[in-house]
Formats: sequence, structure tokens, C-alpha cells
Amino acid sequence: MSTKLLYMYDSYLRKFNAKVIKVMDNKVILDQTAFHPLTGGVANDTGYIVKDDEKYRVIDVKLNKETNEVIHIIDGEVKLNEGDIIEGKIDWDRRYKLMKLHTAAHLIAAVLYNDYGALITGGHVDVKYAKMDFNLEKPDRRIFEEAIRKANEIIKKRLPVKIYFLTRGEAMKIPGIIKLAERMPPKIKELRIVEIPGIDIQADGGPHVNNIGEIGEIVLLKVENKGRTKRRVYYTIKEKD
Ligand SMILES: [Zn+2]
Repeated sequence: MSTKLLYMYDSYLRKFNAKVIKVMDNKVILDQTAFHPLTGGVANDTGYIVKDDEKYRVIDVKLNKETNEVIHIIDGEVKLNEGDIIEGKIDWDRRYKLMKLHTAAHLIAAVLYNDYGALITGGHVDVKYAKMDFNLEKPDRRIFEEAIRKANEIIKKRLPVKIYFLTRGEAMKIPGIIKLAERMPPKIKELRIVEIPGIDIQADGGPHVNNIGEIGEIVLLKVENKGRTKRRVYYTIKEKD
């Protein structure tokens, strides 16, 4: 049974109730979850699953792509049973950083796509920093300095991040919707669309901030050349003083 992904509807949901569907050793499957598994290049959440006075630390979250079940991996022994109602709590500081870094990736990618036609070929958003690979001929750090400067200008416009669902047919009519090229599995009939009006529109299942103003300021960390046309950029979000 696939797990309902609550963060797809509300990225700001920190607590939720759910029913235990399966327990295998230290792995717990729920009917629904706000825990984001490692997927779409964004790191997993951590947090707690609580039942009465039992508190279980969630140290890792994975998606079984065959069954679409989210697997919550617990540090230690699990005494939960099928049918138990639990409360889930995600580590909000960690999640919110992931949301900012991930939404920032949309802005950087949009600028590089508009200016150079560069496509994302890989990437990973972690808590302390994110990295993204682009196919780009020129090995020039200034391209990324300029892209992040422009992305920071866009942040100042404080645009909303709109989330909605479209059928695959409707989504495919939108020009430039799949910048992540071949990543969208064909079996998914309804696509979740993430739109930053006038800037970027993507089919994307991850958690994002509601308004790009929440990102604050993107900081370039480093640029690496990973091959003839592969450029890797590392960036983070400036911590508030
Ligand atoms: Zn996204």
C-alpha cells in the first residue's frame, strides 16, 4: 500500500497522526507521513514517532520505489504494532533548511536555463549545503557567481511558490516544464506542479517554501569541473546573524 505523502500538500506540516501499517525490525511503514524520504535529490527528514510514552527516533527515511511506501528507520528497538495510531514529529529546523536550499535550486536553475540553456544533470540538497550539476560548455566560475547574484535579486521580489496538480497531458503542454529531463517516471498520471510565477515551473514532488523571500540569501561555495560539459556548483543559504 502506498504511503500518502502529506508534505506534498503542506510542506509546513510538522506534526501529524498516522496508522502503523507494517513493522519490520526497526523499519516502520505508516498509512500517511509528513517525513520526506531521500528522493528527488533532497535529503530525508529526521524526527520522532511517538505513541503514548514511547518515543522513537527516526534517523533515516527511504522511499520504496516499487511499492511507493515510505520506510521510517528507527534508532533502536520498535515495539509498535500494526494498527497503532502514532504521532509523527519532524525536525523542523532541518526540514526548513532543506526547503530553502531546494527552492533556491529552482531559482539558480531557472537563471542558468534562461541565460545559457543549461540543464540540470544531477544534484543533491543536504542540510548544510546543496550541489547541482549542469551541462554547460564553458568552465567559468563567473557564470555561477552571476547566476547566484541574479537569483538573489529574484528573491527580493518575494514571489509566492504555487503548488498544484495537473494531469500528465496538461502538464506536458507547458513549455520547459521538465528541466530535469528524463527523471519523471511515465507511470505517474498526475503531476505535482511547482510554479514560481514568471520565473520557473517544474513537475516536482519535494517540499518548498511558500514564498521565495523566505530563502534569504544564497551564497556560492565552490564550482568544480566534472567533465567536458559538466559543471558542479555548491551553494548554501546565509545564516541569519
Ligand atoms: Zn523543487
